[in-house]
Amino acid sequence: MAVNFNRVEFIRSAASPKDFVRDGLAQLAFAGRSNVGKSSVINRLVNRKNFARVGASPGKTSQINYFCLDEKIYLVDLPGYGYAKVSKAERDRWGNLMEAYFASGLISWGVMIVDARHKPTGDDVTMAKWFHDTGCPLTVVANKLDKLKKSEIVPNMQVIRETLDLLETDELVPFSAEKGEGKEQLLRLLSGAVE
Ligand code: GDP
Repeated sequence: MAVNFNRVEFIRSAASPKDFVRDGLAQLAFAGRSNVGKSSVINRLVNRKNFARVGASPGKTSQINYFCLDEKIYLVDLPGYGYAKVSKAERDRWGNLMEAYFASGLISWGVMIVDARHKPTGDDVTMAKWFHDTGCPLTVVANKLDKLKKSEIVPNMQVIRETLDLLETDELVPFSAEKGEGKEQLLRLLSGAVE
């Protein structure tokens, strides 16, 4: 079914499982390391400048933000991970919230943002495993493509695929939130999550 990604509405933030949205609409869960450009990717997809907050401060990251797209599907912005300067308490809050969300059965489709320039981190590998454990389709977005030379694209995509142990069915989309490359491909894929 076609989804108009320009029709987007903020629903709410959840800091604990009691606030999770459970109304039966499919949920696209977006995850990524802090600073990988997750907010920028979301803003590019919905054609807004500051919808998902770019450069959100680390203290405000332990919450899940729900947006509804075209009244058909949720875009779920999961808190970023891997930020070096967070306290243990903050990390624990993040872990508890994520564990509850991944165990909730609410994820319909995983979207993981990684950096196209680098080998995925240990945290990225763990996140891919969490998505695989849910049994949902997973799409990996290799962001900041504009920072790669043409000759680096194919080998870097191979390293990302191997390191994250992606399944043949997992799509890997080279993307630039800055330039817009990959946007149409990603929109097409994610529209497939709506029955
Ligand atoms: P988040 O913490 O994952 O939400 O990351 P942000 O969206 O706040 O982006 C982190 C930084 O990366 C910002 O300075 C963005 O301008 C920059 N950035 C995000 N996407 C791209 C991209 O595709 N290309 C380039 N060159 N920079 C990007």
